[in-house]
Amino acid sequence: MRCVINGFKTAVRVTNYLSPARNSIQFERFRLHAVRQFSVESSPACWNCQKKSNLRQNMICSDCGHLQDVDAEINYFDLLSFPTKFSLESQKLTKNFRQLQTIVHPDKFSNKTSREQTNSADWSSLINKAYKTLATPIERGQYLLQLEGEQMPQDNSALNKEFLMAMMERNEEVEDAVDSQTLEDLNAQVVKELEDMAQKLNSLFAAKDIQGVKGTLVEMKYLLSIQNGIKQKQQSLLGS
Ligand SMILES: [Zn+2]
Repeated sequence: MRCVINGFKTAVRVTNYLSPARNSIQFERFRLHAVRQFSVESSPACWNCQKKSNLRQNMICSDCGHLQDVDAEINYFDLLSFPTKFSLESQKLTKNFRQLQTIVHPDKFSNKTSREQTNSADWSSLINKAYKTLATPIERGQYLLQLEGEQMPQDNSALNKEFLMAMMERNEEVEDAVDSQTLEDLNAQVVKELEDMAQKLNSLFAAKDIQGVKGTLVEMKYLLSIQNGIKQKQQSLLGS
C-alpha cells in the first residue's frame, strides 16, 4: 500500500510541475520568440540615438553605446553566445555569464540615465535566468524542446512500467532508511543516474529523437523528485 501511495505522490509532484498553465506560458513565449525572429528587419531603433544599429552582446547600441531595453524573448543560447544545441561546455558557459554580468553591472550605470539603470537591472536578472536554465541539463533540455515547439507530456505515458516500478521501490528505500549513510548512498546513485541521463539527452537531441528526449526528461523529473525526498528525509533525521 505504501508503495502505491509513494508512487502516487511522485506522480502528483511531476504533474504539478507540468501544469497546463505553465505550458501555455511557455508556448506563448516560444510563439513570441518565433515572431521576433521572423521580424528581425523591423527590430526597434535605439531609444537614444534612434538609429537601427547593430547591437553589441544583444544589449548595447553600437552607435551611441546606450544600454537597450531588455529583450525578454531573446534566445538564451544567443544571449550567452552559444549555438542553440544541448551539448555545451559548462566552464565556458560560466565564463560568458560572468562577462555579461560585468557589462550590465548596476555600478556601471549609477551615474547614467534612469532608463539605463532600469535596463541594467532587467538585463542582469534575465542573464541570471538564462544562465540557470542553460546550466541545468533538465532545464536546458526542456528549454530546447520548447524552442522546437514541442510540449512536455502531460501524463506518464512516456514512461514504461519497469521504470515506474523501480521508482516506487526507490521511494520505499528512502522511506525505510534509518541513517544518513544509507541516504547518502541512495543520493549518490541518483546523482550518477542523472549524469547518465544528461549524456543520453545529448545523443537524443543530436539524433533529433524528440520522443526519446521527452521520455528521458520525464524520467529525470522522477529522479529529481526522489532526490528531493532524500533531502527531506535527511533533514528529518537531523531534526530527530
Ligand atoms: Zn544608439
